[in-house]
Amino acid sequence: MTTIYQKQKNFEIEEIPINGYEKVLKVTNKNTGLKGIIAIHNTFLGPALGGIRIYPYKNFEDALNDVLRLSKGMTYKSAIAEVGLGGGKSVIIADPVKEKNEELLLSFAEVIDSLEGKYIGAEDVGCSTEDVMIIRKKTKYVTGLPHAKSSGNPSVFTAWGTFRGIQSVLKKLFNDVSLKGKKIAVQGIGSVGSHLIPLLFWHGAEIIATDINRKKSEEFKQKYGIKIVEPEQIMEVECDVFSPCAMGGIINSNSISTLKCKAIAGCANNQLLDKSDGELLHEKNILFAPDFIVNGGGLINVSFEITKQGYHPKGPRDKTDKIFDILMSIYEIAEKNDISTSNAAIELAEYKIKYGIGKRMTGIYFHHSF
Ligand code: NAD
Repeated sequence: MTTIYQKQKNFEIEEIPINGYEKVLKVTNKNTGLKGIIAIHNTFLGPALGGIRIYPYKNFEDALNDVLRLSKGMTYKSAIAEVGLGGGKSVIIADPVKEKNEELLLSFAEVIDSLEGKYIGAEDVGCSTEDVMIIRKKTKYVTGLPHAKSSGNPSVFTAWGTFRGIQSVLKKLFNDVSLKGKKIAVQGIGSVGSHLIPLLFWHGAEIIATDINRKKSEEFKQKYGIKIVEPEQIMEVECDVFSPCAMGGIINSNSISTLKCKAIAGCANNQLLDKSDGELLHEKNILFAPDFIVNGGGLINVSFEITKQGYHPKGPRDKTDKIFDILMSIYEIAEKNDISTSNAAIELAEYKIKYGIGKRMTGIYFHHSF
């Protein structure tokens, strides 16, 4: 760590130079107990937008690794979706149940505000809409607040994009988008999974699902007649599509050898533990729909909130729908070049960044009136 460039009101803000990242700030405040990091990966296409994650990381290194990984993922996600935004993310190292309070959030808000819009925050794991409303008291650079021109819950849009992602792998495998009789294994019945399952149900899929929250599993078994398996069994289910909708890192050299699916398409962030796992899937002939394309619906939805006219759901609906076409073109690029779909997606994102495709040409408008 190098430069300490601000030391006032008990704030200590240190810039950590990280290769390939525009700005990474370690933020502490002795008064409020704040310990956090803001990572701005890339703002070439527009300001860096990404959630504020509040999580009790074991140590600073874990938090730093997570925020770096997530902010880079946001750059790729934004680039592919052409939303005129860059990639950023922030984390507060705290237990959201025991340690989150107004003073902590307000002190973090002051740091976000000092970046003058280079980083725009949003809700994330451990940070609710109510928390973002508190943060809004000290900075306007936040999205997803409840007001007339706001974008509301992103999960519905993420679920629709995930559904279109599943259709894309079916199209590639069977030359047919129909879900009738197709076996889909869903890991996680949370905000996104609980919207995805009804979509799959109404399109005639045979659904197998799991959640570590047994009440959730029972509820969905009752409601949609789906088959429930134990959490540790879901990846071994023989199926057409495995849809990871819980946590990241689950596709790795160990789990790949147990997979019995033809394709993977789900909303979880950073599903591949390592870049090489994309190659392994390619070798095993399992079609992988890259997660940062599949789960772009939520970001697309938010991007319509910061337009001059404010939010209207039709725009993000139509743009989220295009996730299907983007994925089809990724499969084509991968096939033509005999590379993994994950590498094809990264190459396309980097190409768009390099040539400014989808670069923001308009301002950012915040419609909160608090
Ligand atoms: P969530 O926390 O609401 O739901 C996750 C669900 O997974 C929970 O019900 C949890 O009990 C379950 N779960 C956790 N570990 C599990 C395991 N080992 N096996 C089975 N179930 C398990 O989260 P969400 O908002 O639905 O997001 C799901 C994933 O999608 C996350 O990785 C998130 O980062 C990503 N994502 C979400 C959005 C969005 O709009 N919500 C957008 C982009 C990406």
